[in-house]
Order: sequence, then structure tokens, then C-alpha cells
Amino acid sequence: MRAQPKASHFVDGAYLEDRAGAEIEVIYPATGEVIARVHEATPAVVERAIASAARAQAEWALVKPVERARILRRAADLIRERNRALSELETLDTGKPLQETLVADATSGADALEYFAGLVPAVTGETIPLGRDFVYTVREPLGVCVGIGAWNYPTQIACWKSAPALAMGNAMIFKPSEVTPLCALKVAEILVEAGLPAGLMNVVQGRGAVGASLITDPRVAKVSLTGSVPTGRKVYAAAAEGMRHVTMELGGKSPLIVFDDADVEDAVGGALLGNFYSSGQVCSNGTRVFVQKGIKERFLARLKERTEAIRLGDPMDEAVQMGPVVSAAQMEKVLAYVEAGKAEGARLVTGGARAGDGGYYIRPTVFADVTDTMAIAREEIFGPVMAVLDFEDENEVVTRANATEFGLSAGVFTRDLTRAHRLVGRLEAGSCWINAYNLAPVEAPFGGVKLSGVGRENSKAAIEHYSQIKSVYVGMGPVEAPY
Ligand code: NDP
Repeated sequence: MRAQPKASHFVDGAYLEDRAGAEIEVIYPATGEVIARVHEATPAVVERAIASAARAQAEWALVKPVERARILRRAADLIRERNRALSELETLDTGKPLQETLVADATSGADALEYFAGLVPAVTGETIPLGRDFVYTVREPLGVCVGIGAWNYPTQIACWKSAPALAMGNAMIFKPSEVTPLCALKVAEILVEAGLPAGLMNVVQGRGAVGASLITDPRVAKVSLTGSVPTGRKVYAAAAEGMRHVTMELGGKSPLIVFDDADVEDAVGGALLGNFYSSGQVCSNGTRVFVQKGIKERFLARLKERTEAIRLGDPMDEAVQMGPVVSAAQMEKVLAYVEAGKAEGARLVTGGARAGDGGYYIRPTVFADVTDTMAIAREEIFGPVMAVLDFEDENEVVTRANATEFGLSAGVFTRDLTRAHRLVGRLEAGSCWINAYNLAPVEAPFGGVKLSGVGRENSKAAIEHYSQIKSVYVGMGPVEAPY
């Protein structure tokens, strides 16, 4: 078993096994081979995770921010030192090419740890003068936080949630997707090696029911989910029962708008990055590419050429640019959308089929002449399928771009920067790009509007989502009671 972890879970500072939980097979998407087996967390494992997190958090909240920061920074250094091994594990877990994982996963996790380590000692409250009396505020941790991850970025998601949580004095219990259970264990192991006290970073495996049992425990103060809208609805509702804090990073069907005056190479590059990176399994992808009519044929010609030059293959070969999708189920789902696109009359420019017969490979696919009502223009596919739609003018494209229940991201390619800013002002999306696409540095807030989510990850904004304000009124004079 080439990627078997030491045990299924990481609880109270150490690996923990409990074979009573149902078995989960971990499959390498490039070959279909079983590379590890883990067990779902039993109620006993969940209880140990929550109890240890609650115990450890009470102590951690009393540790000075600079000391907490030092540990997180050490963890970031360890992650960078081990980037290659962690990237190979990420590739085994997800099937994403090493060419990507070497630069986008563990490194992004290390960025988050470094960023929040740097930020947290500078988080202070304020003093509000009231004449003789005054109020001061303190930013306090929430307590035990639960993170639930999707399968597309297992290392990054674990770090994006745990870094701000731990920096602010919380404990984290992370449940990875059952499809990619391996990487978060390494994040927990490294944090403990860096000096994080036991109990503050726990990883428990399992399907949705394990996640659900974590959210409803009265000792849990917050849940941060990265996942689909249907799961988000369930998790948000369960959290509401106990009035828990939530961050919801959910799906999208984001517009990427290309005007006639755009640099064609840049716009095609943006569309490729926004549709084919990670085999299209990125929530913020610009999967509705609106192209103004004057540039359409030039855009499509270059798009076809550059798409057909993408090297699809063994994700462990560093020259390979695209790997398989994450699972057989995801492949079937994506191929069904490809068939729907053909059946609904979209023009297949390139791709449109499975590649090979071993792993879960799909050729990068471009449809042109897509209309707003087609399923491939309305529903999140989460695979390498780009829909190109035509438009004539700015007002029309803004209306059509916003005509979706999602609102995660949006992009604009144009040389007219006045128009770009005007357009961005009207687009209903949490993260927008002008003449760029899908860059998500830790310094920038990330998250959606409408059904795409609640709250923001990364940036200073995340501090607010992992802490709460206490307001303290200080009376300096005699109490004037009218009674
Ligand atoms: P799912 O919504 O299926 O699952 C997300 C996580 O929630 C998984 O760990 C899942 O467990 C767990 N889960 C499922 N049901 C429950 C429940 N009732 N209570 C608690 N936890 C539950 O998403 P996918 O893993 O399929 O990921 C793809 C989706 O994630 C896409 O829609 C994509 O847009 C979105 N996404 C959003 C991002 C963002 O930042 N906005 C980033 C990346 C992805 P299990 O898998 O074990 O069933």
C-alpha cells in the first residue's frame, strides 16, 4: 500500500487507529489502484477529538500570540522543507499533476501559516472613550472549531482553516473528504512536530455523518465547510441549531468576460487557467466564458490550439500538465455533462471524451455557441469542461453573468480599465479578477456571495471569522442608580 498513513486519525497529538469504523479505500485516480485504507471515526474517536480539543484550547487561549505565531512559522518552514514529499502525497490523494502540487498546495498551506503567524500578534482591541468612563474591546477565540474539507485541495483547505483558527487561540478538528483523507494527517503531524500542544489540531476521517456529528456537539463553537451548495445547506442548518459561527465556501458557476479589446493571448491563458487547472476541479473556475462577438473566432482558434497542446498523462511526470479527475464517480458525472452539452446543441470545439482506460482521465473540453439555458452553462460541472458563450455589449453581459444563483468569482479581460472597474462593481461575486484569473493569495479575502457562501477565508477578514469581540465597559465613578 504505497501511501498508507500510520493510522486513520490524528487525535490529541498522536496518530490513532480504531478499526471498528467502516473502511474507506483510498484510490489513486491516475490508475484506479488502492493506495491506502483508513477507517471512519467511531463515536469514541469523535469524543476523544472533541474532549482533547476542548481541554487544549483552554490552555492555548492563554498563550501569548507571538508564541503561538512562532509554532505556526516553524510548521510553515517544515512544510516547505518537505514540499516534494507532501506534493507527491497530494498527487496520490487527488491525481493532480506534480507540476501543480509542487507550487500550489503545501506551499499555499505554508503561506497561510506564515501569514496568520505574522498577523496575529498585531491583532488588538480598541478603547472607546466615554468621558469619565470607557469601553475596551478584546478579540477572543471562539473555542473548538470544526473544519470540513472538499477533495480538490486537501492540504490547502486543512491549512487555510487551521492557520487562522490556531493563530487566534482556537482548537481545530478537521474532517477531510472521504475521497482524499491522507494529506491533512501530515499537516497535523507537522504542526505537532513544530511544537503545537496536543489536542489543538485533530484529524478525524469519515463520510458526511461524521461531519454532522461534530457540528452538533455543544462543545463546538464554529464550523467552516468547503464543499457543495447542498452540503452547505445541511451544515449551515445544523450549525444554526446551536447558533454556531459558520464559514461556507461553496460552489460556483463563475463568469469570465472577454471584451473585443482584450489581449487575446492573455484572455485565452486566463480561460485555460480558469477551466483546466486541477482538471477543472476548482470552485472559483470561470466556467462560463463570455466572449464578445468581434474577438470570438480569433479567441476560439487560439483556445483550441492551446487546449490541444495540453499534456495530459501520468501526474507524477513533472512535464505533464493535466492529470485525471479525482474519482470514477466524478468522471462519470463530468462525462454526463459532456453528453448533455452535445445533446443540447453546443458546438464541441475540442475534447469531449474520456482518455485512456486506466485512470479517470477526461480530455480538456471546450464547447462554443453555448446558450444561457443549457445545463453546461447553469450547473457546476467540476471537471475540465469550458463553455464559451457569445455577447454583444456590456449591459447584456452583466445581466447574463449575474443570472445565476451562485456568486463565487468573476473575471474581466479588457484593455479599458475604466470599463473593467465599472463592470466589477456590478458583478455579483466575492472574488473578482481583472486581466487575470484564479489567483488566490493568502493576503486576499476569498469567498462567495449568494449561494456560493458566507464569510471569507484568508486575509485579515479571516481573523474576524475565528474570533469574537468582547466589549468591556469600565465605570470610573459612582454608580448613579435612580432607585
Ligand atoms: P461535498 O459537499 O460533497 O462534501 C464536502 C465535505 O462535506 C466532505 O468532507 C463531505 O464528506 C462533508 N459532508 C457531506 N455531507 C455532510 C453533512 N451532512 N454534514 C457534515 N459534513 C458533510 O463536496 P465535494 O467534496 O464533492 O467537493 C466539491 C464541491 O466543493 C464543489 O461543489 C465545489 O464547488 C466546492 N468547493 C468550494 C470551494 C470554495 O472555496 N468555495 C473550494 C473547493 C471546492 P464526504 O466527502 O466524506 O461525504
